Amino acid sequence: MTASGGSWVVGASSSGGEGRGEGFGLANLPMGAWSGEGRGARLGVRIGDSILDLHRCVESGVLARLDGRIQDALAKSVLNDFLGLGQGAWSATRSELQRLLSASCGDLRDAPVAKDALLPAWGITMRLPCEIGDYTDFYASIHHATNVGSMFRPTNPLMPNWKHLPVGYHGRASTVVASGAAVRRPMGQTVQADDGPPSLTACRLLDYELELGAIVGGQANDIGQRVSVAEAAGRIFGHVLLNDWSARDLQKWEYQPLGPFTAKNFMTSISPWIVTADALAPYRVPVPPRGDGDPQPLDYLRWDGDFLLDVRFEVAISSASMRERGMPEMVVSRSRGTDLWWSMNQMLAHHTVSGCRMRPGDLIGSGTISGAGEDERGCLLELTWRGTKPITLPDGTERKFLQDGDEVIVRGSAVRDGLPRLSFGECRGFVLPVA
Ligand code: MN
Repeated sequence: MTASGGSWVVGASSSGGEGRGEGFGLANLPMGAWSGEGRGARLGVRIGDSILDLHRCVESGVLARLDGRIQDALAKSVLNDFLGLGQGAWSATRSELQRLLSASCGDLRDAPVAKDALLPAWGITMRLPCEIGDYTDFYASIHHATNVGSMFRPTNPLMPNWKHLPVGYHGRASTVVASGAAVRRPMGQTVQADDGPPSLTACRLLDYELELGAIVGGQANDIGQRVSVAEAAGRIFGHVLLNDWSARDLQKWEYQPLGPFTAKNFMTSISPWIVTADALAPYRVPVPPRGDGDPQPLDYLRWDGDFLLDVRFEVAISSASMRERGMPEMVVSRSRGTDLWWSMNQMLAHHTVSGCRMRPGDLIGSGTISGAGEDERGCLLELTWRGTKPITLPDGTERKFLQDGDEVIVRGSAVRDGLPRLSFGECRGFVLPVA
């Protein structure tokens, strides 16, 4: 079954539909969890301006062609069971959903349940798509690592390990939230001078980080069992937008020697729709060869079929006064998935090189994605160069870092000539004052 020919669902043409449903055509079909309209938490698929209630579909027997284990997993309130079923089940489900939603098929369109199983995407609440078991954040964009490194070590921006392994830290799964949740400005230890003394204050240098997230699936590897780069491709169910909210002043004081801690653990936002690896397959770009002066990765990090994803990102900011005055948000930067130096598969392979177990529902962040240009920097630390080059918003106010009432909106789409645009939707969050 291909995605050509379009869907019978209003607002979901083959090119992806119009207006707010654009980018959510048959070629996409992202999966997520939701509640609303009197229905408890359940799974759904986004199609155009609508959401398909998978619980209703299973109940009514519309998905009877799928294996019973798949139907059971699709009737749950989170995706973890489905994630654990692995690639065969994911592909079979995608093919069947494309068949049922295509214009040439009446099996769902003409079934009594159709009216009840499709709802407007706007009246419901999107939830976290799965229970996040563990969350790891990487640092895989060379432009980001070079920019941030050069602020602190002008002559030696990249640490000696950077081109040999995907640098990462273990993040906090309990504070991963779905888009729309407000972020509370954190308290923490901050210093005036580099060596202290510290005081407990509200964070003054609150930042966002634009990242690509990967949702791990497939059967968990045993402790001690490594996952190769090639196998990693089959362990990633799909991708989300991720905003790694960061408290730069807390980070500066606490990060050595074990990495960020309270500067990162107060909140991480993800977009609620998982765009599947299957849908993204045509948007893969081979990992470019390393430059002449660059080291080749060790063998366990090499695979001829490895790829990056051509996702185009943008970050926009809207202040409280801009919204009061009806001003549109301001796009402050754009960057691409192809700006990453390490692939998601390499990150997963390195994550497990020690034998670390990865379970369905684990989340991996790419690290801030920045391009080479000054308007391609994926966080305010870089964009304003530690606050030395503030940006001016349309309401005339300056930003070095985020202020209370600011909203950060991250968007992304997979793009390729001749193919429909695949939308990731949005990842939004407001800044609330310190409690
Ligand atoms: Mn990060």
